[in-house]
Amino acid sequence: MLDATPRGEVAERSALTINPCKTCQPVGALYAALGVHGTMPHSHGSQGCVSFHRMFLTRHFKEPAMASTSAFTEGASVFGGGANLKTAVRNIFDLYDPEIIAVHTTCLSETIGDDLHSFLSDIEIPEGKRVIYCSTPSYQGSHITGFSSMAAGFVEHMAQKSDVPSGRLAVIPGFVNPGDMRKIKSYLEEFRINYTLLPDTSGVLDAPMTGEFEMFPKGGTRAADVVRLGDAHFTLALGQWASEAAANALQRKHGVQYATLPLPIGVRATDEFISALSGYSKHPVPASIEEERGQLIDCMLDAHQYLDKRRVAIAGDPDHVLRLTEFCLELGMSPVYVGTGTPGGHFEERVAEVLARFDVDPETVWFKSETDYFEIHQRIIQEPVDLLLGPSLFKQVARAEDIPLVRVGFPILDRYVHPYLPLVGYEGAMRLLRDMADALMDRLDRDCDDKDLEFVM
Ligand code: SF4
Repeated sequence: MLDATPRGEVAERSALTINPCKTCQPVGALYAALGVHGTMPHSHGSQGCVSFHRMFLTRHFKEPAMASTSAFTEGASVFGGGANLKTAVRNIFDLYDPEIIAVHTTCLSETIGDDLHSFLSDIEIPEGKRVIYCSTPSYQGSHITGFSSMAAGFVEHMAQKSDVPSGRLAVIPGFVNPGDMRKIKSYLEEFRINYTLLPDTSGVLDAPMTGEFEMFPKGGTRAADVVRLGDAHFTLALGQWASEAAANALQRKHGVQYATLPLPIGVRATDEFISALSGYSKHPVPASIEEERGQLIDCMLDAHQYLDKRRVAIAGDPDHVLRLTEFCLELGMSPVYVGTGTPGGHFEERVAEVLARFDVDPETVWFKSETDYFEIHQRIIQEPVDLLLGPSLFKQVARAEDIPLVRVGFPILDRYVHPYLPLVGYEGAMRLLRDMADALMDRLDRDCDDKDLEFVM
């Protein structure tokens, strides 16, 4: 496995990425669009692109990810895809009757310079229906950039301001699983906050099995609520990379002030989220949440001896990776390699801030944005770690170096149930703690002598 990875010096590269810690922009745009009820995501490009995007999402969520395509052929690739888009919009409304078509671009349509704004200005949209769009050239950014652009696209094209404040808190949850969105909503409800979550894939990509296929499952942010976002009282953006652009668009367009909070993964980040909800709602923290936090701290103390000083490599999406790094430090672990494939956002500075909070010398940790699993693998070969934390794409490194992997983030293509269970909140941290402790303790059981195999650990 990965026999070609050099085992000597780390090979420096400037123009080649091998096994990137990211995927392409439209995957994120498609996911965000599925979080608005009655929306058909539409890929303006070739059929091959949308097949890949749908397959990727379907394999992570184990649910069908519906989307349509402009189905570029050679003609559209040379002369532009305006005619294809016009036909597609008419057919989609006729055949599937969505409330909204959410169009994103692809490498091909961006490269030939298709102008969605002018195409869509010339297309007749049926009464009561909407077509929104965003630009997602995949030779830049990542699936996180695509998610962020589509969430902002809904705000740009749909949010309106009236004379009547809605009194709602707008919450942009970031590129998280439906289970996380349910958890975020449960916290908001415990504080009795009137909110709009955009997007909201709960009830869409974790919908129960009913035996009936529904093109547009019951879940998702309602279009009417997206329209009313312009009247919101305040916005909380959870995660700088995935959520800030939508909050910023709402402020720019309609003057709704916002705060960007870390994704609530781990103790401190969840504390910050809960404090923000308490401050906003002017309600004290409910006893149920206090209890949940106390249970987490108890579990952290219980398992401390198995996690303390364990060396860990963390990879994935930047909002997740930052908080996973912080949670590992809260547990007394030693993150030694921290990487993301998504560019921008001053990732290295943010990691350095987290390390400084725990008095960790940044010289002792390798951290980098726009990196790939090949580079992380080379570094692990030089100085091994005890645990890998990241998506399924870390699996080959885990096998090659015989290191346990705890699957976390996106995509998890080779295991089940993950999208249903939260990683956010104190409950999510407890689950992650259990998974990491289990992985390390399973390894102890596997490697110890027969005489040392303990029933009680
Ligand atoms: S061509 Fe571009 S948009 Fe299409 S699948 Fe590949 S990276 Fe994604």
